[in-house]
Amino acid sequence: MLSVDTLHAEELAFVSNPVLALLARFLPDKTTLALEAWHVDDAAAEITLDVTSTQACVPCPLCHVQTTRVHSRYPRAVADVPWGAYAVRLHLRVRKFFCDNPLCPRQIFTERLPAVVVPWARRTLRRAQHLSKPRHDLRSTSASLSRLAKPGPPYDLACPL
Ligand SMILES: [Zn+2]
Repeated sequence: MLSVDTLHAEELAFVSNPVLALLARFLPDKTTLALEAWHVDDAAAEITLDVTSTQACVPCPLCHVQTTRVHSRYPRAVADVPWGAYAVRLHLRVRKFFCDNPLCPRQIFTERLPAVVVPWARRTLRRAQHLSKPRHDLRSTSASLSRLAKPGPPYDLACPL
């Protein structure tokens, strides 16, 4: 017989798994990332997604030999594109691997997530693209406005009359 707590836990699992499955659809790269948990902070208007890498085998960035031997794990926080009024932060749990190539000078390296974020970046690739597009639009708008504001030949010509 199941206890009330067990039933409640099963209900939560039933409810949370579809939510996780739904939210996982919005990850920057579903082929290399898995959503473990999520949290919404309404006061800060921020959604936090706890994400792990699912790559079974990764290449050493120096010699490109594939490896599966994990050295350690560490957390990495990166900003992702906002969902409406909510900022989105990915808490990535990335791994360090041993390079097993005896000829490679790199013995330990951090796995790369080239479809998600560049090494040492604080924001995802799509967040960086999201930020650069409005700035570009703003720059072109600003340039157009300056052109209009500049005194140009048609406006500076003295009236012949
Ligand atoms: Zn290597």
